[in-house]
Amino acid sequence: AAKEQGRNRLVHYTAGMETQARERRELEIDLRRGLGNGEFELLYQPQVDIETGAIACYEALVRWNHPTRGTILPGSFIDMAEETGLIVPLGQWVIRAATEAAGRWPDDVRVAVNLSPAQLRDPGLLPCVIQAMASAGLSANRLELEITESVLLEDTEDNLATLHRLRDLGLRISLDDFGTGYSSLNYLRNFPFDKIKIDRCFIEGIEERGDCQAIVSAMITLAEDLGMVITAEGVETVEQLERLRLHGCRQIQGYLVARPLSAALLDAHLGLVNEAMARRAG
Ligand code: C2E
Ligand code: MG
Ligand code: MG
Ligand code: MG
Repeated sequence: AAKEQGRNRLVHYTAGMETQARERRELEIDLRRGLGNGEFELLYQPQVDIETGAIACYEALVRWNHPTRGTILPGSFIDMAEETGLIVPLGQWVIRAATEAAGRWPDDVRVAVNLSPAQLRDPGLLPCVIQAMASAGLSANRLELEITESVLLEDTEDNLATLHRLRDLGLRISLDDFGTGYSSLNYLRNFPFDKIKIDRCFIEGIEERGDCQAIVSAMITLAEDLGMVITAEGVETVEQLERLRLHGCRQIQGYLVARPLSAALLDAHLGLVNEAMARRAG
């Protein structure tokens, strides 16, 4: 009976794996098709100064407008894109689209782009970034790249060299989802990040949980002492904002300020702002 059970379990498991493999192959084909078909879109979510409310930067967040499945969030396809290498052409499209959009924004507003490990390993990354900035007329200090600790887990030497080259070009490098990976503190010693983003999981608990408060407070002090900007991710409530202010946090991002916005909405909004300023100046 045990053997029977084991076999059934094995059969079941294999069937599951086959389904999974087939679904992945289908997703890969679909992703390739969607890329050629212009089905990807960038939304932009602001990172703002707590004290002044000024927008420091907009983070580009990719969406897949699928013809039959509707809008698909990156959590459902970035890993697959990473595994199949499709993240490289997708990521290059993201860099071009984000720099082009930012080229239309006011000079003091930057754009942040998320980079996954395979993109950083791609020798085409630097030429792509340089070309995109040139054709958008965007200066290097207006482009931020957000990486996670996973980037520094493998191929550390090569990845660090690439990060240094990007930084030498004048780009800013942010450490995303800080506190969720491994040996975070060592990474802070290995690379001079411009910004640290406190992961949303710590912000979620900041009202009730003493441990979250202690960790957030320590992160803010640490970033300050290292001369890095700190941004709290996923701020949803005024109470969380007040806590962060109390701990000395300067910059926040989250639904409390704004959901990710379409480029068209953003252009319209920034246009209104420009017009209002022109009216006041004139
Ligand atoms: P991330 O870079 O940490 O981005 C923050 C995520 O949190 C975004 O999810 C954003 O929509 C969401 N978020 C922002 N504020 C709040 C809030 O107040 N509450 C809650 N619950 N969520 C909030 P999204 O857009 O689904 O992206 C998920 C992840 O996918 C990103 O995490 C990033 O790692 C990755 N990603 C997104 N766009 C790209 C891209 O163009 N390229 C690459 N390589 N990765 C991307
Ligand atoms: Mg990010
Ligand atoms: Mg994050
Ligand atoms: Mg993330």
